[in-house]
Formats: sequence, structure tokens, C-alpha cells
Amino acid sequence: MEKIKMTTPLVEMDGDEMTRIIWKWIKDILILPYVDLNTEYYDLGLEHRNETNDRVTVDSAEATKKYGVAVKCATITPNAARMTEYDLKEMWKSPNGTIRAILDGTVFRTPIIVKGITPYIPTWTKPITIARHAYGDVYKNTELRVDEGAKAELVVTKKDGSEERALIHDFNGTDGIIQGLHNTDKSISSFARACFNFAVDTKQDLWFATKDTISKKYDHRFKDIFAEIYENEYKAKFEELGIEYFYTLIDDAVARVIRSNGGYIWACKNYDGDVMSDMVATAYGSLAMMTSVLVSPSGVYEYEAAHGTVQRHYYKYLKGEKTSTNSVATIFAWSGALRKRGELDKNDALMKYADNLEKATIQTIEDGIMTGDLEALSSIPNKTRVDTEEFLKAINERLAALM
Ligand code: NAP
Ligand code: MG
Repeated sequence: MEKIKMTTPLVEMDGDEMTRIIWKWIKDILILPYVDLNTEYYDLGLEHRNETNDRVTVDSAEATKKYGVAVKCATITPNAARMTEYDLKEMWKSPNGTIRAILDGTVFRTPIIVKGITPYIPTWTKPITIARHAYGDVYKNTELRVDEGAKAELVVTKKDGSEERALIHDFNGTDGIIQGLHNTDKSISSFARACFNFAVDTKQDLWFATKDTISKKYDHRFKDIFAEIYENEYKAKFEELGIEYFYTLIDDAVARVIRSNGGYIWACKNYDGDVMSDMVATAYGSLAMMTSVLVSPSGVYEYEAAHGTVQRHYYKYLKGEKTSTNSVATIFAWSGALRKRGELDKNDALMKYADNLEKATIQTIEDGIMTGDLEALSSIPNKTRVDTEEFLKAINERLAALM
């Protein structure tokens, strides 16, 4: 078979620990035999980030802007222990944070569903994708403790020097607490566009919810911005595709999500997304089956697994022991990125390959061959627990048959 050609490079961001090992195996076993891989390679492994004073992370994000699609391996976010372990010059920031800031993106997390692994909410037969607005609100707050007898006010000093004031509370007879929050029209609009674009891209309904009945200015602004952008820029496209934009109150949304079958995107304000993404991920079973894509409002995509570098498995690997690390989310990061590259370049063969890679991966698990984390969850009879490499080879047997 002739290998599939790629006209435009894909930005490849290598990473750390066990996921770095898996990264190479996925390429060697599942991709390179079929695809004449054309990537612009950036080594985001912690050693190289340290050598380049983290310049490599910025460069990789800039390259993603230029080419439009990236695939990223999990990376270590340094803490005190890593400072010693890697003899770091500085406690470098989270690469994901740096990349997200440069691309101004929204993260969409989607579970991969396979037969035999039933979500804790069994009616969730289709994936629920969560989009979290990753700017502002309580995550960029200012808060104070207030003494009894004090009066707390919001004060806005305008461009012309004039002031607008609003009473928060008169603290009569008791001490208390106050908190100042903000968001910006710019950030909310970017978030809205990323969500509408992703809904169009994946042909799924988009749900959004706030508490606008209580928060008549703050949350209401989110509702209005979404509604305006939908009306002016996306309504026609949604109608053409037969998909829906659905707005409701957050408590109503939560009740409807539980009763739903999945199969939509749920856009969440920052705090709602923080809480609900952990709930949804847990309900679907395993973090190792959760994909993640960062989408910028200008239509740039960065694909990755939602889990980390699986450090404990890496230390076993270093001791020469076999691990049973689940590579599914990392495989889907590659297939997602290659499919998107194919879409942008009108490269049908590459898109077909990405579909086949996903099919072969799911088929392997549904045939009963799986890593230890899934074996513990799957209700399939006659399941076999395999090690990291055996799993990839079993996928390749199925992939070869499909190609
Ligand atoms: P983690 O790497 O996600 O692993 C936590 C535990 O979850 C593992 O020890 C393992 O449990 C299980 N697990 C996660 N992924 C798995 C997989 N693919 N296959 C099988 N089991 C899996 O999180 P962490 O240990 O908190 O973080 C490790 C490093 O990753 C940290 O340095 C952190 O900064 C980084 N991190 C990076 C990203 C990213 O780049 N996006 C995200 C999160 C964390 P058992 O050990 O019980 O088998
Ligand atoms: Mg959380």
C-alpha cells in the first residue's frame, strides 16, 4: 500500500513521562506504516522547555496559529518536587495555560464511548461534550473580609473621572465577606464563537445556561451576547444543518442533562464548567477515555488527551516493568488532528485513515482486548487485560484489515 501523503504540516507537541513513551509507540505502530507523516515537531518535554526557557511552548503555539492544527502529548506542570527532579531554572508555567492564552481558545472535552462500559447514568448513550469558559468570574476575583459596622460598595471610576456607585451591603451587627468579579464582552464573545463553531463542526446541538433570573446584569450579559452572536452569525448555518441552540437556566440545564441521552455540547460558565466537567467525566467512567480539543475563535485546533503524564506507570516502565497504560485518548488526539488536517486540506485519504484508526481502536476494546483500567470497568465476558504495547498491536491488526 502506498502511504498517505500530507500537503500541510501538522504541529506536533511532544511531552513527558509515560505519555511520551506511548506517543512514540502510537506513531511507530499505528501511524507511520500508513501515513507519510508531515509534522513540524516541537519538544515540550520538561527538559527541553527548561533548556529553551520555555520558548519552545510559545513557538509551538505560534506554529499552531500558522498551520491551524496541532496534536499535543501530556506534559508535566512543574511543582516544587519537579524543580528538584528536573533541576529546573524556574517553575515554568503550565504549557496548556500558555498555549490557551496565545490561541485565546476554549477547551471541549468529549468522552469516547464503547460497548461494555456503561456510564453511571446509563441513559447517556451518546457523549456529552463540555465547553468551559476559561476566563474570569471567581477565578480572577478580589475578595475581602469586612468588619461589623462597615458599608461595602461597588465603585467604578470612568474614563472621564466620574464615579458610579452601588451598595453591596451595610454590615450592621455582624462581620462578613465580599467578593468582586468581572468578565469582558471580548472574552465572552470569543467563548460564544468557539462554541457555535464547534457545534457546526461536529453537527451537534449547543446548550448554554446561566442564572440570568437572579444575576440580571452579570449573567444576563452572557445570555445576551450568546443570543446576539447566534442571531447575527450562526442561525442560518444551524438551521441548514438541522441543529439547535438551546438556552435555559443552569438548574433547569442540570436536570435536563441527567434525563438526556447525550449527543450535544454543553457550554458552561467558568465555575459551572469546572464542577460539571469532573462530574461528567466521572460518570462516563475513565479519564483515559476523555479527549480534549482547544478551539480558538479564529478556527485553530489543538487536540490532546484529557489525562496527565501517568507518572506512576512511567516509574514502573523505567524499572523495566510492563505497564498497562491506556492509550485511547492519545490515539484519538492524533486521529482528531489528522482528520481536521485532512478536512482543511481536502485530503480524503487522511480523513478516512483517521476514521479507521478510531474504528479499529473501539473494535479492539469491544472484542474484549483492553488495558487494566478498562478491564476493571467493562462488563464484556471473556475480556483480556493486555500491556501497553500489546494493546497497540491488537489495534493495528484491526486497522490493517480496514485499510
Ligand atoms: P494523570 O497523569 O492523569 O494520572 C492520574 C492517575 O489516573 C494515574 O496514576 C492512573 O491511575 C490514572 N490514569 C490516568 N491516565 C491513565 C491512562 N492513560 N491509562 C491508565 N491509567 C491512567 O494525573 P496526575 O498523576 O495527577 O499527573 C501527572 C502529571 O501530569 C503531573 O505532572 C501533571 O502536571 C501532568 N498533567 C498534565 C496534563 C496535560 O498535559 N494536559 C493534565 C493533567 C496532568 P493508577 O496509577 O491508579 O493506574
Ligand atoms: Mg474541576
